[in-house]
Order: sequence, then C-alpha cells, then structure tokens
Amino acid sequence: MSGPDLAQARRLADQLLQPDPGPALGTLVATRHGGLGLSHALHGEVCRLVAETSPSRQALLTVHAMVCRAVGRWGSEELRDRRLPDLATGRTVAAFALSEENAGSDVRSLAIECRPTDDGWELTGEKQWITYGLEADVLLVFAGTERGPLAALVDTSAPGVEVRACPRTSGFAEARLASVRFDRCRVPHDQVVGRVGSGLAHVAADALTLGRLSIAFASWGLARAALRAATQRAVGRHQFGGPLHERQLVRGLLADASVAVDAAQELCRRAARSIDEAGEWLQHDVLTAKLAASRAAATAAATAAQLHGAAGLLEGSPVDVMVRDARVYEVIEGNTQLLQDLVAGQVLARHRSGEDL
Ligand SMILES: Cc1cc2nc3c(=O)[nH]c(=O)nc-3n(C[C@H](O)[C@H](O)[C@H](O)COP(=O)(O)OP(=O)(O)OC[C@H]3O[C@@H](n4cnc5c(N)ncnc54)[C@H](O)[C@@H]3O)c2cc1C
Repeated sequence: MSGPDLAQARRLADQLLQPDPGPALGTLVATRHGGLGLSHALHGEVCRLVAETSPSRQALLTVHAMVCRAVGRWGSEELRDRRLPDLATGRTVAAFALSEENAGSDVRSLAIECRPTDDGWELTGEKQWITYGLEADVLLVFAGTERGPLAALVDTSAPGVEVRACPRTSGFAEARLASVRFDRCRVPHDQVVGRVGSGLAHVAADALTLGRLSIAFASWGLARAALRAATQRAVGRHQFGGPLHERQLVRGLLADASVAVDAAQELCRRAARSIDEAGEWLQHDVLTAKLAASRAAATAAATAAQLHGAAGLLEGSPVDVMVRDARVYEVIEGNTQLLQDLVAGQVLARHRSGEDL
C-alpha cells in the first residue's frame, strides 16, 4: 500500500469515526454514482483502521458497503441511478436484514412471508440482529416468495415497518442493533434488487462475500490493537522484580499473537488483490482470510486480557471490550465452524481433482 493511499485511508477512517461519516461511507460505490470508487484493498485498509479504534463503528461501514454492493451489482439501472447517489454520500444510511429467529447460519430457512400484489410484494414477519438498524434509512431485506428468495430495499419510514432496539450484545455494544417487524409492508417492483428467485444465490451470497472481506480486515485491525495493548502491558507491568516481558511464557504469548496478526495481514491483502486484479472473488482466499483474521483477533485479544490480569477483567475496560468484540467476529458473516467446513470442502475437492496440495 503506497503512502498516499494509506494517507487517504487514514482520512476516511477519521471521518467514519465522526457522528456523521457522510461520503466516507461510499468507499466502493462507483464514482459515476457519486462514490469514492476505491479498490477493495483500500476499502479493506479503511475497515482495518476504523476497527482498530471501534469495531462497532466499523460494522456500519461493512453493512452499508454490502447494501451498496448489492444495488450496484444486481439492481436495475433505474434503481442504481435513483438510490446510489444518496447511499454513496451517506445521505441515506443502509443496513442488511437477513437473519431471523430461525434463520441464522442457515439462511435458506427464511420464514418471512412475501406475497405478490398488483404492483409488487407485501412483507409480513420479523428480522433481527440488524447492525445499525436503529439508524438506517433503508434496509436490504431478504424474504421467500413462491418464485424463490427475493431481495428488496425497504425504507424504514414505509408504512408497516416497526424498528425496535435489540437487547444489547456484549460485543459490538455500540452497533445500534435492531429488530424490524414488517406488517403487510408494501414493496413496489422497482425496489427489488436482482431477479426474484436469485435473492440468496446471487444478491446475498455476493454481498456476504464482501462482508467477509470487510470483517477479515476489521478483525486484523482489532488484532493489531490487541497486540499493541498486550505489548505495552508486558513492557510496563513489573512483577517478581522485572517487567513481564522478561518471562519466557509471556514472550511465547506475544510471539503467537504476533504471528497470527502477520498471517491475517497477508491473507487479507491477498484476498483483496484477488478481486481487484481478477475482477471476481476467489472464494478460497476470502474464506481463508476471514477465518484466520477472526481467530487472530480472538488470540490477540485473549493475550492482551490475560496479561492485564485482574485489570483485564474489569467490565468495559479496553481489553475486555476487545475480547467481546473479537467473539462477534467469529460469529458474523459466517461463523468459524461453517467457514472451516467450507475451506475443508475446497481442500478435499482440490485433492480429489489430483491437485498437488
Ligand atoms: C453483533 C451482531 C451483529 C449482527 N448483524 C447482523 C446484520 O447486520 N444483519 C443480519 O442479517 N444478521 C446479523 N447478525 C446475525 C448473524 O449473522 C448471526 O448471528 C449468524 O449468522 C449466526 O446465526 P445464529 O446466531 O443464529 O447462530 P446459529 O446459526 O444458531 O449457530 C450457532 C453456532 O452453531 C455452530 N454452527 C452453525 N452452523 C454450523 C455449521 N454449518 N457447521 C458447524 N457448526 C455450525 C457455530 O458454532 C455457530 O456459532 C448479527 C449478529 C451479531 C451477534
């Protein structure tokens, strides 16, 4: 990453940490729609930098970028022209509404009802765990129809939409999570994103891949911040007549966290390069980056908390918050076990095809 690119990423990260991030939310939106048109590598650096300070805040960029991606890639030309300029400049804030009570990791279990009407569709049911749902102007909602899954933009001000706060989670505590109830909410045809029937296979799958890349970079950022905190503590805290860092077992903890952070950096950058250079996702690279980086965040945060001893257990202390936020990274955008299953499946397929692993 060049110096000017990094300087731009830092400026955008600072803006994203402000109460009104404005055009910094348009990282990946094409310039012709008023966005910044950044590469995925640069978008990733912004995600990393914001997460070093606030994983909750970074989550806003993740979900907003996922919705922008869905509209930009799968929306009709008319929908793109109508919605993207406001999304690109943050005048409209977007959130991603996929999860339901019985549709978590298994997104094919959507239960929300979506019936055809004369001019579109009518939604009834509930979505939950929507990051920044309390502040969003528009939601990208996924629902089942008689013609297969549908993805559509639904304005939170539309009749039949009720937004409520979710119980506060221990990680991502500031991520403004919401549940949203739809009661015969009308969705006109021109708000549908992509073909009816392809809502999960195309629209959600593609947006989730971007979400995984963004969260991989964010996890790397949290891992870096945690390694920094662990090292400061190892240097600054004296016990048994010397600083903690003189103890071999403490050095082992620092070394393991450092290796995990370095691996996360390389895998995140490789995954971003795959989309920037080849123009299409290399699923293996994105899955591997998310898996490794979220585990790096967990390892480094646990190390930082351990080296802080009792102070690391103080509720709301910086390292306590890191441990809690790192747990979220192992659950969202594909939990760790699901990703392990997918990566193992790819390895086995390569083996069966005779590839020399
Ligand atoms: C802070 C936060 C923010 C969120 N933001 C959003 C959002 O903006 N939009 C949205 O739609 N959703 C959001 N979610 C929901 C999130 O996507 C789901 O929590 C996630 O998909 C997992 O679903 P679940 O919690 O129902 O866990 P479950 O699906 O019940 O899984 C529980 C556990 O079972 C194991 N498991 C599950 N599947 C497999 C498998 N195939 N193989 C092996 N083990 C498995 C894993 O250990 C997993 O952690 C958010 C959640 C949190 C906590």
